[in-house]
Order: sequence, then C-alpha cells, then structure tokens
Amino acid sequence: MSTKPKLFSPGPVDVAKETYEAMCSPAIGHRGKDFEELYASVQPGLQEVAKTTRPVFLNTASAWGAMEGAIRNLTQKKVLNLCCGAFSDKWYDVSLRCGKEADKVQVEWGEAITPELVREKLSEGGFDTVTLAHNETSTGVLNPLADIVKAIREFDDIMIVVDTVSSFSAVPTPFDELGVDVLLCGVQKALALPPGLSLMIVSEAALERCKKLPDRGYYFDYNEFEKNHLKNNTPSTPAIPQIYALRERVDFMLSEGLEKRYARHAATNALTHGWVAKHGFENFAPKGYQSKTLTCVKNNLEIDVPGFIKAVRAKHNLLINGGYGKIKGLTFRISNMGNETLETQQELLDALDDVIPDFL
Ligand SMILES: *Cc1c(COP(=O)(O)O)cnc(C)c1O
Repeated sequence: MSTKPKLFSPGPVDVAKETYEAMCSPAIGHRGKDFEELYASVQPGLQEVAKTTRPVFLNTASAWGAMEGAIRNLTQKKVLNLCCGAFSDKWYDVSLRCGKEADKVQVEWGEAITPELVREKLSEGGFDTVTLAHNETSTGVLNPLADIVKAIREFDDIMIVVDTVSSFSAVPTPFDELGVDVLLCGVQKALALPPGLSLMIVSEAALERCKKLPDRGYYFDYNEFEKNHLKNNTPSTPAIPQIYALRERVDFMLSEGLEKRYARHAATNALTHGWVAKHGFENFAPKGYQSKTLTCVKNNLEIDVPGFIKAVRAKHNLLINGGYGKIKGLTFRISNMGNETLETQQELLDALDDVIPDFL
C-alpha cells in the first residue's frame, strides 16, 4: 500500500488505516443474527447524517447502480435529467438505455442548474421524475439543491432523485427537510471508504410509485429493499466487509460531530482555493456555486497538466486529477473530501508549490 500515491483525486479518495482494519472483521453469513446486528448498527448513524427517519438501504453496487435503479423504479412517463457535467450528462444516456422516455436541461460544463431553467422545462408537461447531481464532481459545481427542489414541487407527482455521491456527509443534505424522494451516494467519495457500495434513501411516495412499475427489475427494487430492511437485511448477498468499514466511518463521523465535519470540509476547501488564487489560477465553477469537497481548477495559465500531475506523483507520491472527460487538460481537480485535515491538505498544497515553478 505504501508505495501507491495518496489519493487527492475526487474519488476514490484516501482510506484510513482504521477503515481497512474494520474490513478484516471475521466472515459472517448474511442470513443470521450477526449480519442483522451489523445492518441495524449502521442505521441510526446514517439516518443522523442524512437527517431522516427513513431507512438507509445498503446497495452492493457503485453509485451508477443506484442511479440506474432510480430510473427503473420511478420513471413511468418521462424523466427530466438535469445535466451540467460528466456525471449528470451521463444520467440522460442511462435513462435512454433503460428504455425510458427522457429529456434534459443542459447547461455548459462549469455552470450550475438554476430553478428557472427547471421550472421552464417542467412547464412543458409530461414528466414524472427529475434527476439532479447535487455536487457535479467533474466540474466542481455545487447545485442549489433546496431552490431546485422548491421549483420542482410547483408541479404535481414528480419524483425527485438526487445524486449526493460527492457531497453526502461533507455538506448538509437533510432528506426529510428537503422533501426529496430518492437520495443516493457511493461510498468512495466523501465517506472515504473503498469503492463498491452505495446508499439509497427512498421516500414513502417513491416506494408506492415503484410498485406500479412491473419492469423495475430485481436487483435495485426498492420494494425488495424495504421488505428486507424490516428484517435488518438486504435482498441479495451484501458486501459485508464494506459494511464493517461503513460502521467504522459512521462511528468516526458521529464522534467528530457533523457540524465539525462540515466545517472541516469548508476549511480544507478554502485552503485549496487560496492556493488556486495565489498562483493566478481560476476556479472553473462560478462563485456561489463552488463545491466544498473538491476544487476544479481552470488551466488558465496553460500549464502542461499531465506533466504537472506526473511530477507531483513522482516527487511527493501524491495524486491529483487531470480533469474529467471533455475538460481533461483544460482543468485539474484537487479533492479535499473524506478524511483530510488542514494539516494534510496543506501537505498536498506544499507539494504542489514545490513542483509548480517548473511548469509556469
Ligand atoms: C463518482 C460519481 C458517480 C459515479 O459513481 P460510481 O461509483 O462510478 O458508480 C456519480 N455521480 C457523481 C456525482 C460522482 O461523483
């Protein structure tokens, strides 16, 4: 492990030693007391993080499984995908691949979705589902979640699905208060677990909606998850080591305190923004819509991004990311999500300081 670089890319992120150790807990069967206790033990903590009284389903698939599942469980008429970057754009493609009628609101990468755009599109009528990426990880844009939800609620019978893959636990996403229908996230981003598990929170209304879709499949069926949840279990064999790891991180989060956790992410993010400004770089995301968990840096100084990243890795064994999809090379991304502190984030920025003069 020690020869691999420490990850400062926005997912997967660095995993704590304690989390790996928790994964080495003894093997247990999933249809018995031991697993039921493990399953039940993570619920209150996850509900506290999500600010919900609803169960938190443990889905053995990465976030795309949960995203595809949302479409298959909910879209009967037509889904509106709100697209503002690689992940949210791809959701539209996934909707079509699920055989659904789909339409989109598309903004330029680097811009945020606005309530006005959503309202205008929904006014055309015919939609029964909307998907939104809260924090678009490819561009570093944090969308105005509460305002968008309010705009959608002006229309009847629309299921609101929110991808919080790279924001969950780092900024508040209060499920009950927001009044969304599905909140989902993967675990390898702000939760700082190894990849392979996702979380799904599903409203009563979404549970009722899914029962009307006979072709919703089995693996992501909300109704199966709910039925099994009542027995502290999952529909199919879960990734048990991941759930041990999840328990370890949930306990860590609660001992840290959520307010402190939000403040820590805000502080490490601000520190990174300071580095960006100091060198004359710009933020790719506009003011007011900037992610708290990563910084997407605009390569306005036109440095050799792959060379820079390679040099940081070679000299300091730290890894940042060279931009995603069509903005590769035009941007680079620095994560501060998960376990980073002011001290560890500063170590990264010092390493970047050390290497950057060779590239300016
Ligand atoms: C990483 C990410 C995903 C995809 O997650 P997978 O683990 O690759 O399935 C989806 N949405 C957002 C916002 C992400 O950051």
